[in-house]
Amino acid sequence: MTDQTIQPNEGLSNFIHDLIDEDNSTGRFEKRVHTRFPPEPNGYLHIGHAKSIVLNFGLAEKYGGKCNLRFDDTNPTKEEQEYVDSIIEDVKWLGGDWDDRLFFASDYFDQLYAWAVQMIKDGNAFVDDLSADEMREYRGTLTEPGKESPFRTRSVEENLDLFERMKNGEFADGAKVLRAKVDMASPNINMRDPVMYRIRHATHHRTGDKWCIYPMYDWAHGQCDSIEGVTHSICTLEYADHRQLYDWYLDTLGIYHPQQIEFARLNMTYTVMSKRKLLKLVNDKHVRGWDDPRMPTVSGMRRRGYPAEAIRDFCGRIGVAKTPNMIDIGLLEYSVRQYLNLHAQRVMAVLRPIKIVLTNYPEGAVEEMSAVNNPEDPSMGSRIVPFSRELYIEADDFMENPPKNFYRLAPGREVRLRYAYFIKCDEVIKDEQGNVVELRCTYDPATRGGDSPDGRKVKATLHWVSAQHAVDAEVRLYNALFTKSNPEDTEGEDFLTNLNPNSLEVLSGIKVEPFVEEAKVGDRFQFERQGYFCVDKDTTPQKIVFNRTVSLKDTWAKVQDKA
Ligand code: ATP
Ligand code: MG
Repeated sequence: MTDQTIQPNEGLSNFIHDLIDEDNSTGRFEKRVHTRFPPEPNGYLHIGHAKSIVLNFGLAEKYGGKCNLRFDDTNPTKEEQEYVDSIIEDVKWLGGDWDDRLFFASDYFDQLYAWAVQMIKDGNAFVDDLSADEMREYRGTLTEPGKESPFRTRSVEENLDLFERMKNGEFADGAKVLRAKVDMASPNINMRDPVMYRIRHATHHRTGDKWCIYPMYDWAHGQCDSIEGVTHSICTLEYADHRQLYDWYLDTLGIYHPQQIEFARLNMTYTVMSKRKLLKLVNDKHVRGWDDPRMPTVSGMRRRGYPAEAIRDFCGRIGVAKTPNMIDIGLLEYSVRQYLNLHAQRVMAVLRPIKIVLTNYPEGAVEEMSAVNNPEDPSMGSRIVPFSRELYIEADDFMENPPKNFYRLAPGREVRLRYAYFIKCDEVIKDEQGNVVELRCTYDPATRGGDSPDGRKVKATLHWVSAQHAVDAEVRLYNALFTKSNPEDTEGEDFLTNLNPNSLEVLSGIKVEPFVEEAKVGDRFQFERQGYFCVDKDTTPQKIVFNRTVSLKDTWAKVQDKA
Protein backbone atom coordinates (compact mmCIF):
# COMPACT_ATOMS: atom_id res chain seq x y z
CA MET A 1 0.00 0.00 0.00
CA THR A 2 1.20 3.47 -0.79
CA ASP A 3 -0.81 6.55 0.11
CA GLN A 4 -3.80 4.25 0.52
CA THR A 5 -2.53 2.95 3.84
CA ILE A 6 -5.28 2.10 6.28
CA GLN A 7 -4.65 3.77 9.60
CA PRO A 8 -7.93 3.76 11.40
CA ASN A 9 -8.31 5.20 14.85
CA GLU A 10 -4.65 6.04 14.90
CA GLY A 11 -4.10 7.03 18.48
CA LEU A 12 -7.59 5.90 19.41
CA SER A 13 -7.56 2.61 21.16
CA ASN A 14 -10.28 0.04 21.40
CA PHE A 15 -10.90 -3.10 23.43
CA ILE A 16 -9.47 -5.30 20.67
CA HIS A 17 -6.13 -3.49 20.95
CA ASP A 18 -6.18 -4.30 24.66
CA LEU A 19 -6.82 -7.99 23.97
CA ILE A 20 -4.03 -8.13 21.39
CA ASP A 21 -1.62 -6.24 23.65
CA GLU A 22 -2.39 -8.79 26.34
CA ASP A 23 -1.73 -11.71 23.95
CA ASN A 24 1.51 -10.07 22.83
CA SER A 25 2.65 -9.62 26.40
CA THR A 26 2.09 -13.29 27.24
CA GLY A 27 3.50 -14.45 23.89
CA ARG A 28 0.31 -16.40 23.20
CA PHE A 29 0.60 -16.22 19.40
CA GLU A 30 4.37 -15.61 19.33
CA LYS A 31 3.42 -11.92 19.10
CA ARG A 32 1.92 -12.49 15.68
CA VAL A 33 -1.17 -10.59 14.62
CA HIS A 34 -2.97 -12.19 11.72
CA THR A 35 -6.56 -11.25 10.93
CA ARG A 36 -8.87 -11.91 8.02
CA PHE A 37 -11.84 -10.31 6.34
CA PRO A 38 -14.28 -13.12 5.47
CA PRO A 39 -17.12 -11.93 3.20
CA GLU A 40 -19.72 -14.28 1.84
CA PRO A 41 -19.94 -13.56 -1.90
CA ASN A 42 -23.72 -13.23 -1.89
CA GLY A 43 -24.01 -9.49 -2.37
CA TYR A 44 -22.01 -6.29 -2.65
CA LEU A 45 -20.11 -4.89 0.31
CA HIS A 46 -21.73 -2.14 2.36
CA ILE A 47 -20.57 0.44 4.87
CA GLY A 48 -20.81 -2.15 7.67
CA HIS A 49 -18.33 -4.33 5.81
CA ALA A 50 -16.14 -1.26 5.37
CA LYS A 51 -15.99 -1.00 9.14
CA SER A 52 -14.87 -4.62 9.37
CA ILE A 53 -12.32 -4.12 6.57
CA VAL A 54 -10.84 -1.04 8.19
CA LEU A 55 -10.72 -2.84 11.53
CA ASN A 56 -9.12 -6.06 10.28
CA PHE A 57 -6.65 -4.57 7.82
CA GLY A 58 -6.02 -1.73 10.26
CA LEU A 59 -5.03 -4.13 13.04
CA ALA A 60 -2.60 -5.89 10.71
CA GLU A 61 -1.14 -2.50 9.81
CA LYS A 62 -0.92 -1.30 13.39
CA TYR A 63 0.79 -4.43 14.69
CA GLY A 64 2.96 -5.15 11.66
CA GLY A 65 0.91 -8.27 10.98
CA LYS A 66 -1.14 -9.67 8.13
CA CYS A 67 -4.73 -9.70 7.04
CA ASN A 68 -6.16 -12.24 4.60
CA LEU A 69 -9.07 -11.79 2.26
CA ARG A 70 -11.07 -14.99 2.48
CA PHE A 71 -14.32 -15.66 0.70
CA ASP A 72 -16.68 -17.63 2.85
CA ASP A 73 -18.16 -19.50 -0.09
CA THR A 74 -19.80 -22.47 1.56
CA ASN A 75 -23.29 -21.92 0.17
CA PRO A 76 -23.34 -22.70 -3.56
CA THR A 77 -26.87 -21.51 -4.21
CA LYS A 78 -26.50 -17.83 -3.37
CA GLU A 79 -22.98 -17.10 -4.46
CA GLU A 80 -21.78 -15.65 -7.70
CA GLN A 81 -18.60 -14.61 -9.43
CA GLU A 82 -19.99 -11.10 -9.93
CA TYR A 83 -20.00 -10.66 -6.16
CA VAL A 84 -16.48 -12.02 -5.80
CA ASP A 85 -15.21 -9.53 -8.38
CA SER A 86 -17.01 -6.58 -6.82
CA ILE A 87 -15.77 -7.46 -3.33
CA ILE A 88 -12.16 -7.68 -4.50
CA GLU A 89 -12.49 -4.29 -6.18
CA ASP A 90 -14.09 -2.71 -3.12
CA VAL A 91 -11.61 -4.05 -0.55
CA LYS A 92 -8.75 -2.87 -2.74
CA TRP A 93 -10.32 0.54 -3.17
CA LEU A 94 -10.71 0.91 0.58
CA GLY A 95 -6.98 0.25 0.88
CA GLY A 96 -7.04 -3.37 2.06
CA ASP A 97 -3.83 -5.16 1.06
CA TRP A 98 -3.96 -8.95 1.32
CA ASP A 99 -0.74 -9.36 -0.66
CA ASP A 100 -0.87 -12.92 -2.05
CA ARG A 101 -3.31 -14.12 0.57
CA LEU A 102 -6.57 -14.28 -1.35
CA PHE A 103 -8.35 -17.41 -0.16
CA PHE A 104 -11.65 -19.19 -0.51
CA ALA A 105 -13.24 -21.48 2.05
CA SER A 106 -13.85 -23.77 -0.92
CA ASP A 107 -10.04 -24.13 -1.25
CA TYR A 108 -10.27 -26.16 1.96
CA PHE A 109 -13.19 -28.45 1.11
CA ASP A 110 -10.90 -31.51 0.87
CA GLN A 111 -9.30 -30.76 4.23
CA LEU A 112 -12.66 -30.09 5.86
CA TYR A 113 -13.94 -33.39 4.50
CA ALA A 114 -10.91 -35.23 5.87
CA TRP A 115 -11.45 -33.61 9.28
CA ALA A 116 -15.13 -34.62 9.20
CA VAL A 117 -14.05 -38.22 8.58
CA GLN A 118 -11.69 -37.93 11.54
CA MET A 119 -14.57 -36.62 13.67
CA ILE A 120 -16.65 -39.66 12.71
CA LYS A 121 -13.77 -42.04 13.46
CA ASP A 122 -13.27 -40.44 16.87
CA GLY A 123 -16.97 -40.84 17.64
CA ASN A 124 -17.58 -37.10 17.48
CA ALA A 125 -19.92 -36.97 14.47
CA PHE A 126 -22.78 -39.02 13.04
CA VAL A 127 -25.03 -39.14 10.02
CA ASP A 128 -28.59 -38.21 10.87
CA ASP A 129 -31.73 -39.13 8.90
CA LEU A 130 -34.10 -36.86 10.80
CA SER A 131 -35.93 -34.37 8.60
CA ALA A 132 -35.40 -30.66 9.12
CA ASP A 133 -38.73 -30.42 10.96
CA GLU A 134 -37.94 -33.36 13.19
CA MET A 135 -34.54 -31.92 13.99
CA ARG A 136 -36.18 -28.67 15.02
CA GLU A 137 -38.52 -30.58 17.33
CA TYR A 138 -35.68 -32.55 18.86
CA ARG A 139 -33.60 -29.44 19.36
CA GLY A 140 -35.56 -28.22 22.40
CA THR A 141 -35.87 -24.60 23.41
CA LEU A 142 -33.96 -22.05 25.43
CA THR A 143 -35.64 -23.39 28.56
CA GLU A 144 -35.91 -27.09 27.71
CA PRO A 145 -33.12 -29.44 26.76
CA GLY A 146 -33.21 -31.19 23.41
CA LYS A 147 -33.59 -34.92 22.72
CA GLU A 148 -30.95 -37.09 21.14
CA SER A 149 -31.60 -38.28 17.61
CA PRO A 150 -32.37 -42.00 17.32
CA PHE A 151 -29.57 -42.15 14.71
CA ARG A 152 -26.99 -40.82 17.14
CA THR A 153 -25.83 -44.29 18.14
CA ARG A 154 -24.93 -45.48 14.63
CA SER A 155 -21.62 -47.32 14.49
CA VAL A 156 -18.50 -45.59 13.21
CA GLU A 157 -18.47 -47.95 10.21
CA GLU A 158 -22.05 -47.15 9.27
CA ASN A 159 -21.41 -43.42 9.65
CA LEU A 160 -18.27 -43.57 7.50
CA ASP A 161 -20.16 -45.51 4.84
CA LEU A 162 -23.16 -43.17 4.84
CA PHE A 163 -21.02 -40.02 4.85
CA GLU A 164 -19.04 -41.24 1.89
CA ARG A 165 -22.25 -42.06 0.05
CA MET A 166 -23.57 -38.58 0.90
CA LYS A 167 -20.45 -37.21 -0.77
CA ASN A 168 -20.90 -39.52 -3.74
CA GLY A 169 -24.33 -38.12 -4.44
CA GLU A 170 -26.42 -41.14 -3.49
CA PHE A 171 -28.93 -39.16 -1.45
CA ALA A 172 -31.31 -36.34 -2.22
CA ASP A 173 -31.01 -32.83 -0.79
CA GLY A 174 -32.15 -32.87 2.83
CA ALA A 175 -32.23 -36.67 3.13
CA LYS A 176 -29.31 -36.79 5.53
CA VAL A 177 -26.92 -34.49 7.35
CA LEU A 178 -23.67 -34.96 9.20
CA ARG A 179 -23.93 -33.72 12.78
CA ALA A 180 -21.41 -33.21 15.52
CA LYS A 181 -22.03 -35.23 18.66
CA VAL A 182 -21.83 -32.60 21.37
CA ASP A 183 -24.57 -32.20 23.95
CA MET A 184 -28.33 -32.08 23.37
CA ALA A 185 -28.79 -30.71 26.89
CA SER A 186 -26.38 -27.81 26.50
CA PRO A 187 -27.86 -24.47 27.52
CA ASN A 188 -26.24 -23.14 24.32
CA ILE A 189 -28.45 -24.31 21.48
CA ASN A 190 -25.52 -24.05 19.06
CA MET A 191 -23.97 -26.98 20.96
CA ARG A 192 -26.95 -29.30 20.52
CA ASP A 193 -25.46 -31.62 17.93
CA PRO A 194 -24.98 -28.92 15.27
CA VAL A 195 -25.12 -29.81 11.60
CA MET A 196 -21.68 -29.96 9.97
CA TYR A 197 -22.63 -30.90 6.39
CA ARG A 198 -25.78 -30.72 4.35
CA ILE A 199 -26.55 -32.18 0.94
CA ARG A 200 -26.99 -29.64 -1.86
CA HIS A 201 -26.92 -30.83 -5.42
CA ALA A 202 -25.87 -27.46 -6.75
CA THR A 203 -23.06 -26.11 -8.90
CA HIS A 204 -20.51 -24.11 -6.93
CA HIS A 205 -18.93 -21.00 -8.48
CA ARG A 206 -15.46 -22.46 -7.97
CA THR A 207 -15.68 -26.20 -7.35
CA GLY A 208 -18.37 -26.76 -9.98
CA ASP A 209 -20.09 -30.12 -9.46
CA LYS A 210 -17.27 -31.74 -7.52
CA TRP A 211 -19.23 -31.58 -4.29
CA CYS A 212 -22.84 -32.16 -3.42
CA ILE A 213 -22.26 -31.83 0.32
CA TYR A 214 -21.35 -28.44 1.72
CA PRO A 215 -19.98 -27.49 5.15
CA MET A 216 -22.00 -25.28 7.48
CA TYR A 217 -20.57 -21.90 8.45
CA ASP A 218 -19.64 -23.02 11.97
CA TRP A 219 -17.89 -26.15 10.77
CA ALA A 220 -15.97 -24.22 8.15
CA HIS A 221 -15.06 -20.93 9.73
CA GLY A 222 -12.80 -21.81 12.65
CA GLN A 223 -11.06 -24.51 10.66
CA CYS A 224 -10.34 -22.06 7.83
CA ASP A 225 -8.96 -19.60 10.42
CA SER A 226 -6.80 -22.39 11.80
CA ILE A 227 -5.45 -23.45 8.40
CA GLU A 228 -4.51 -19.85 7.62
CA GLY A 229 -2.78 -19.31 10.96
CA VAL A 230 -5.17 -16.50 11.89
CA THR A 231 -4.57 -15.25 15.42
CA HIS A 232 -7.56 -13.01 16.08
CA SER A 233 -10.77 -13.95 14.30
CA ILE A 234 -12.94 -10.88 14.57
CA CYS A 235 -16.65 -11.12 13.92
CA THR A 236 -19.86 -9.37 14.87
CA LEU A 237 -21.81 -9.91 18.08
CA GLU A 238 -24.33 -12.39 16.65
CA TYR A 239 -21.50 -14.91 16.69
CA ALA A 240 -20.81 -14.61 20.41
CA ASP A 241 -23.06 -17.63 21.04
CA HIS A 242 -21.17 -19.56 18.39
CA ARG A 243 -17.79 -19.07 20.03
CA GLN A 244 -18.26 -22.11 22.27
CA LEU A 245 -18.74 -24.26 19.16
CA TYR A 246 -15.86 -22.54 17.35
CA ASP A 247 -13.65 -23.52 20.28
CA TRP A 248 -15.11 -27.03 20.58
CA TYR A 249 -14.39 -27.96 16.96
CA LEU A 250 -10.80 -26.76 17.14
CA ASP A 251 -10.15 -28.44 20.49
CA THR A 252 -11.84 -31.66 19.44
CA LEU A 253 -9.75 -31.83 16.27
CA GLY A 254 -6.70 -30.82 18.30
CA ILE A 255 -5.51 -28.26 15.77
CA TYR A 256 -4.08 -24.74 16.03
CA HIS A 257 -6.60 -22.54 17.81
CA PRO A 258 -7.17 -18.86 16.93
CA GLN A 259 -9.14 -16.54 19.22
CA GLN A 260 -12.62 -15.41 18.16
CA ILE A 261 -13.44 -11.85 19.23
CA GLU A 262 -16.83 -10.21 18.74
CA PHE A 263 -17.61 -6.51 18.23
CA ALA A 264 -20.82 -4.56 17.62
CA ARG A 265 -21.85 -4.30 14.00
CA LEU A 266 -22.36 -0.89 12.49
CA ASN A 267 -25.94 0.31 12.32
CA MET A 268 -26.61 3.67 10.71
CA THR A 269 -29.67 5.92 10.60
CA TYR A 270 -31.69 6.08 7.35
CA THR A 271 -29.89 2.94 6.18
CA VAL A 272 -30.61 -0.76 5.82
CA MET A 273 -27.62 -3.06 5.78
CA SER A 274 -29.01 -6.54 5.47
CA LYS A 275 -27.86 -8.00 2.17
CA ARG A 276 -31.28 -9.55 1.71
CA LYS A 277 -32.88 -6.10 1.83
CA LEU A 278 -30.26 -4.50 -0.38
CA LEU A 279 -30.80 -7.29 -2.91
CA LYS A 280 -34.53 -6.59 -2.82
CA LEU A 281 -33.96 -2.89 -3.51
CA VAL A 282 -31.89 -3.89 -6.54
CA ASN A 283 -34.07 -6.71 -7.85
CA ASP A 284 -37.30 -4.77 -7.50
CA LYS A 285 -35.65 -1.77 -9.17
CA HIS A 286 -36.20 0.70 -6.34
CA VAL A 287 -32.65 1.78 -7.12
CA ARG A 288 -30.65 1.61 -10.33
CA GLY A 289 -28.33 -1.21 -9.23
CA TRP A 290 -25.94 -2.21 -6.44
CA ASP A 291 -23.82 0.84 -7.19
CA ASP A 292 -26.69 3.30 -7.19
CA PRO A 293 -25.32 6.33 -5.33
CA ARG A 294 -28.22 6.11 -2.85
CA MET A 295 -27.14 2.63 -1.74
CA PRO A 296 -25.00 2.17 1.39
CA THR A 297 -22.79 -0.13 -0.65
CA VAL A 298 -19.09 0.61 -1.06
CA SER A 299 -19.59 0.73 -4.84
CA GLY A 300 -22.57 3.08 -4.43
CA MET A 301 -20.60 5.39 -2.17
CA ARG A 302 -17.65 5.34 -4.55
CA ARG A 303 -19.90 6.22 -7.48
CA ARG A 304 -21.47 8.97 -5.44
CA GLY A 305 -18.03 10.46 -4.90
CA TYR A 306 -17.25 9.46 -1.31
CA PRO A 307 -13.46 9.24 -1.07
CA ALA A 308 -12.01 6.05 0.41
CA GLU A 309 -10.06 8.26 2.83
CA ALA A 310 -13.31 9.73 4.15
CA ILE A 311 -14.84 6.31 4.68
CA ARG A 312 -11.75 5.21 6.55
CA ASP A 313 -11.84 8.39 8.61
CA PHE A 314 -15.47 7.68 9.50
CA CYS A 315 -14.68 4.09 10.50
CA GLY A 316 -11.94 5.40 12.76
CA ARG A 317 -14.20 7.99 14.35
CA ILE A 318 -17.00 5.59 15.24
CA GLY A 319 -14.58 3.24 16.95
CA VAL A 320 -15.11 -0.37 17.91
CA ALA A 321 -17.52 -1.26 20.68
CA LYS A 322 -18.86 -4.31 22.44
CA THR A 323 -22.46 -3.12 22.63
CA PRO A 324 -24.80 -2.42 19.71
CA ASN A 325 -25.34 1.23 18.82
CA MET A 326 -26.78 3.40 16.07
CA ILE A 327 -24.56 5.85 14.22
CA ASP A 328 -25.95 9.06 12.76
CA ILE A 329 -25.51 9.05 8.98
CA GLY A 330 -24.56 12.73 9.33
CA LEU A 331 -21.27 11.57 10.81
CA LEU A 332 -20.34 9.77 7.59
CA GLU A 333 -21.23 12.85 5.58
CA TYR A 334 -19.17 14.93 7.98
CA SER A 335 -16.08 12.87 7.13
CA VAL A 336 -16.85 13.17 3.42
CA ARG A 337 -17.33 16.92 3.66
CA GLN A 338 -14.15 17.40 5.69
CA TYR A 339 -12.07 15.55 3.15
CA LEU A 340 -13.60 17.20 0.11
CA ASN A 341 -13.31 20.66 1.61
CA LEU A 342 -9.56 20.17 1.79
CA HIS A 343 -9.13 18.49 -1.58
CA ALA A 344 -11.91 19.28 -4.03
CA GLN A 345 -11.40 21.60 -6.98
CA ARG A 346 -13.84 24.52 -6.89
CA VAL A 347 -15.86 25.43 -9.96
CA MET A 348 -18.96 27.49 -10.61
CA ALA A 349 -22.08 25.71 -11.82
CA VAL A 350 -25.63 26.96 -12.15
CA LEU A 351 -28.16 24.26 -11.37
CA ARG A 352 -31.38 26.14 -12.18
CA PRO A 353 -30.26 28.81 -14.63
CA ILE A 354 -31.77 32.17 -15.44
CA LYS A 355 -30.14 34.32 -18.08
CA ILE A 356 -28.59 37.71 -17.49
CA VAL A 357 -27.71 40.16 -20.26
CA LEU A 358 -25.25 42.94 -19.37
CA THR A 359 -26.56 45.68 -21.60
CA ASN A 360 -23.49 47.90 -21.20
CA TYR A 361 -20.95 45.11 -21.81
CA PRO A 362 -19.43 45.08 -25.33
CA GLU A 363 -20.91 42.48 -27.66
CA GLY A 364 -18.48 39.70 -28.52
CA ALA A 365 -15.99 40.61 -25.80
CA VAL A 366 -14.61 37.90 -23.52
CA GLU A 367 -12.55 38.52 -20.39
CA GLU A 368 -10.52 35.96 -18.50
CA MET A 369 -11.17 36.09 -14.78
CA SER A 370 -8.85 34.41 -12.35
CA ALA A 371 -10.51 32.10 -9.82
CA VAL A 372 -9.04 30.27 -6.83
CA ASN A 373 -9.07 26.47 -7.19
CA ASN A 374 -9.24 25.71 -3.49
CA PRO A 375 -8.95 28.35 -0.76
CA GLU A 376 -7.94 25.60 1.71
CA ASP A 377 -5.00 24.57 -0.43
CA PRO A 378 -3.04 27.36 -2.14
CA SER A 379 -0.87 24.76 -3.88
CA MET A 380 -3.87 23.96 -6.08
CA GLY A 381 -3.43 27.36 -7.72
CA SER A 382 -5.98 29.18 -9.80
CA ARG A 383 -7.76 28.91 -13.12
CA ILE A 384 -9.24 31.14 -15.80
CA VAL A 385 -13.01 31.60 -16.00
CA PRO A 386 -14.37 33.30 -19.11
CA PHE A 387 -16.74 36.24 -18.64
CA SER A 388 -18.98 37.71 -21.31
CA ARG A 389 -22.10 39.76 -21.97
CA GLU A 390 -24.58 36.92 -21.43
CA LEU A 391 -24.41 34.92 -18.25
CA TYR A 392 -26.40 32.48 -16.20
CA ILE A 393 -27.08 32.82 -12.52
CA GLU A 394 -29.16 30.66 -10.19
CA ALA A 395 -32.87 31.40 -10.65
CA ASP A 396 -33.41 31.51 -6.92
CA ASP A 397 -30.69 34.12 -6.49
CA PHE A 398 -33.23 36.57 -7.92
CA MET A 399 -36.58 37.71 -6.56
CA GLU A 400 -38.80 40.24 -8.17
CA ASN A 401 -40.46 41.19 -4.90
CA PRO A 402 -37.95 40.24 -2.26
CA PRO A 403 -38.91 39.91 1.39
CA LYS A 404 -36.87 41.84 3.93
CA ASN A 405 -34.28 39.15 4.59
CA PHE A 406 -33.49 38.44 0.93
CA TYR A 407 -30.19 40.12 0.05
CA ARG A 408 -29.49 38.73 -3.37
CA LEU A 409 -30.47 40.13 -6.76
CA ALA A 410 -33.71 42.09 -7.16
CA PRO A 411 -34.86 44.93 -9.42
CA GLY A 412 -32.72 48.01 -8.80
CA ARG A 413 -30.35 46.10 -6.54
CA GLU A 414 -26.59 45.60 -6.90
CA VAL A 415 -24.72 42.36 -6.13
CA ARG A 416 -21.24 40.97 -6.77
CA LEU A 417 -20.53 38.28 -9.34
CA ARG A 418 -17.74 36.22 -7.85
CA TYR A 419 -14.30 36.88 -9.37
CA ALA A 420 -15.90 39.42 -11.76
CA TYR A 421 -17.91 42.63 -11.29
CA PHE A 422 -20.71 44.30 -9.43
CA ILE A 423 -23.89 44.13 -11.48
CA LYS A 424 -27.22 45.89 -11.04
CA CYS A 425 -30.61 44.64 -12.20
CA ASP A 426 -32.42 47.17 -14.37
CA GLU A 427 -35.17 45.26 -16.09
CA VAL A 428 -37.08 41.99 -15.76
CA ILE A 429 -38.15 40.24 -18.97
CA LYS A 430 -41.14 37.88 -18.77
CA ASP A 431 -42.78 35.43 -21.13
CA GLU A 432 -46.49 35.48 -21.96
CA GLN A 433 -47.31 33.46 -18.85
CA GLY A 434 -45.55 36.00 -16.70
CA ASN A 435 -42.51 33.84 -15.91
CA VAL A 436 -39.22 35.68 -15.52
CA VAL A 437 -37.02 34.52 -18.41
CA GLU A 438 -34.24 37.06 -18.51
CA LEU A 439 -32.74 39.88 -16.48
CA ARG A 440 -31.24 42.95 -18.06
CA CYS A 441 -28.43 44.27 -15.95
CA THR A 442 -25.54 46.70 -16.11
CA TYR A 443 -22.05 46.05 -14.79
CA ASP A 444 -19.66 48.52 -13.21
CA PRO A 445 -16.30 48.29 -15.05
CA ALA A 446 -14.55 49.86 -12.04
CA THR A 447 -15.33 46.82 -9.88
CA ARG A 448 -13.32 44.25 -11.83
CA GLY A 449 -12.21 41.44 -9.57
CA GLY A 450 -15.16 42.06 -7.31
CA ASP A 451 -14.12 45.14 -5.34
CA SER A 452 -15.46 48.60 -5.54
CA PRO A 453 -12.84 51.39 -5.53
CA ASP A 454 -15.29 53.79 -3.87
CA GLY A 455 -15.88 51.38 -0.99
CA ARG A 456 -19.45 50.65 -2.05
CA LYS A 457 -20.76 47.49 -0.35
CA VAL A 458 -23.04 44.80 -1.68
CA LYS A 459 -24.74 42.21 0.47
CA ALA A 460 -24.44 39.18 -1.80
CA THR A 461 -21.92 37.40 -3.97
CA LEU A 462 -23.36 35.15 -6.64
CA HIS A 463 -21.82 32.41 -8.74
CA TRP A 464 -22.35 32.59 -12.48
CA VAL A 465 -21.39 30.97 -15.77
CA SER A 466 -20.77 32.64 -19.13
CA ALA A 467 -23.59 31.52 -21.44
CA GLN A 468 -21.51 31.04 -24.59
CA HIS A 469 -18.83 29.09 -22.72
CA ALA A 470 -21.09 27.00 -20.50
CA VAL A 471 -20.89 23.23 -20.55
CA ASP A 472 -24.29 21.55 -20.37
CA ALA A 473 -24.69 18.89 -17.77
CA GLU A 474 -27.15 16.78 -15.85
CA VAL A 475 -27.11 16.71 -12.09
CA ARG A 476 -28.52 13.99 -9.88
CA LEU A 477 -29.45 15.15 -6.43
CA TYR A 478 -29.87 12.46 -3.80
CA ASN A 479 -32.00 12.58 -0.73
CA ALA A 480 -32.34 9.96 2.00
CA LEU A 481 -33.46 6.61 0.62
CA PHE A 482 -35.81 6.19 3.58
CA THR A 483 -38.22 8.56 5.23
CA LYS A 484 -37.54 7.24 8.73
CA SER A 485 -34.28 7.33 10.61
CA ASN A 486 -34.99 3.71 11.47
CA PRO A 487 -36.22 2.15 8.22
CA GLU A 488 -37.06 -1.04 10.13
CA ASP A 489 -39.74 0.82 12.07
CA THR A 490 -42.58 -0.37 9.84
CA GLU A 491 -45.52 -1.20 12.14
CA GLY A 492 -45.67 -4.66 10.67
CA GLU A 493 -45.37 -3.54 7.06
CA ASP A 494 -42.53 -4.28 4.69
CA PHE A 495 -39.45 -2.03 5.06
CA LEU A 496 -40.23 -0.75 1.56
CA THR A 497 -43.13 1.27 2.98
CA ASN A 498 -40.49 3.61 4.37
CA LEU A 499 -38.84 4.20 1.00
CA ASN A 500 -38.55 7.87 0.14
CA PRO A 501 -40.29 8.39 -3.24
CA ASN A 502 -38.20 11.55 -3.72
CA SER A 503 -34.77 10.12 -3.07
CA LEU A 504 -33.60 11.05 -6.58
CA GLU A 505 -34.09 14.37 -8.28
CA VAL A 506 -32.62 14.87 -11.75
CA LEU A 507 -31.83 18.35 -13.07
CA SER A 508 -30.97 18.63 -16.73
CA GLY A 509 -29.69 21.68 -18.56
CA ILE A 510 -27.40 22.78 -15.80
CA LYS A 511 -24.61 25.15 -16.83
CA VAL A 512 -21.05 24.64 -15.69
CA GLU A 513 -17.91 26.65 -16.35
CA PRO A 514 -15.73 25.17 -19.12
CA PHE A 515 -13.11 23.89 -16.67
CA VAL A 516 -15.08 20.64 -16.28
CA GLU A 517 -14.94 19.86 -19.98
CA GLU A 518 -11.89 17.67 -19.46
CA ALA A 519 -13.23 16.00 -16.32
CA LYS A 520 -13.12 12.23 -16.06
CA VAL A 521 -15.49 9.80 -14.42
CA GLY A 522 -14.92 9.93 -10.68
CA ASP A 523 -13.49 13.47 -10.60
CA ARG A 524 -14.85 15.46 -7.69
CA PHE A 525 -15.66 19.16 -7.53
CA GLN A 526 -17.12 21.66 -5.20
CA PHE A 527 -19.76 23.61 -7.08
CA GLU A 528 -19.45 26.88 -5.23
CA ARG A 529 -22.37 27.51 -2.86
CA GLN A 530 -23.99 24.22 -3.95
CA GLY A 531 -22.11 21.25 -2.59
CA TYR A 532 -19.73 18.56 -3.73
CA PHE A 533 -20.29 16.78 -7.01
CA CYS A 534 -18.67 13.86 -8.79
CA VAL A 535 -18.63 12.91 -12.47
CA ASP A 536 -20.84 9.85 -12.99
CA LYS A 537 -20.11 6.89 -15.25
CA ASP A 538 -23.24 7.71 -17.28
CA THR A 539 -21.34 10.67 -18.75
CA THR A 540 -21.21 10.68 -22.57
CA PRO A 541 -19.31 12.90 -25.02
CA GLN A 542 -22.56 14.88 -25.39
CA LYS A 543 -23.42 15.27 -21.74
CA ILE A 544 -21.59 15.29 -18.44
CA VAL A 545 -23.54 13.71 -15.60
CA PHE A 546 -22.78 14.74 -12.03
CA ASN A 547 -23.84 13.11 -8.79
CA ARG A 548 -24.24 15.34 -5.80
CA THR A 549 -21.90 13.70 -3.32
CA VAL A 550 -22.93 15.77 -0.34
CA SER A 551 -24.29 19.22 0.36
CA LEU A 552 -22.08 21.92 1.83
CA LYS A 553 -23.81 21.86 5.19
CA ASP A 554 -25.37 19.18 7.31
CA THR A 555 -28.95 18.84 6.17
CA TRP A 556 -29.79 15.81 8.30
CA ALA A 557 -30.55 17.97 11.25
CA LYS A 558 -33.50 19.28 9.25
CA VAL A 559 -34.84 15.91 8.15
CA GLN A 560 -37.85 15.02 10.26
CA ASP A 561 -39.30 11.58 10.74
CA LYS A 562 -42.75 11.36 9.26
CA ALA A 563 -44.99 10.69 12.23
P1 ATP B 1 -25.80 -10.82 5.91
O1 ATP B 1 -26.35 -9.45 5.66
O2 ATP B 1 -26.05 -11.78 4.79
O3 ATP B 1 -26.02 -11.36 7.29
P2 ATP B 1 -23.08 -10.61 6.77
O4 ATP B 1 -23.23 -9.30 7.40
O5 ATP B 1 -22.91 -11.80 7.62
O6 ATP B 1 -24.25 -10.74 5.77
P3 ATP B 1 -20.64 -11.33 5.48
O7 ATP B 1 -20.32 -11.26 4.05
O8 ATP B 1 -20.69 -12.67 6.10
O9 ATP B 1 -21.98 -10.57 5.67
O10 ATP B 1 -19.71 -10.38 6.31
C1 ATP B 1 -18.31 -10.33 6.18
C2 ATP B 1 -17.72 -9.69 7.39
O11 ATP B 1 -18.21 -8.37 7.55
C3 ATP B 1 -18.08 -10.46 8.64
O12 ATP B 1 -16.91 -10.61 9.43
C4 ATP B 1 -19.09 -9.60 9.30
O13 ATP B 1 -19.02 -9.74 10.68
C5 ATP B 1 -18.70 -8.20 8.85
N1 ATP B 1 -19.87 -7.34 8.84
C6 ATP B 1 -21.00 -7.51 8.15
N2 ATP B 1 -21.89 -6.54 8.41
C7 ATP B 1 -21.30 -5.70 9.29
C8 ATP B 1 -21.70 -4.50 9.96
N3 ATP B 1 -22.91 -3.95 9.78
N4 ATP B 1 -20.81 -3.92 10.79
C9 ATP B 1 -19.61 -4.44 10.97
N5 ATP B 1 -19.17 -5.57 10.40
C10 ATP B 1 -20.00 -6.20 9.56
MG1 MG C 1 -22.16 -13.82 7.27
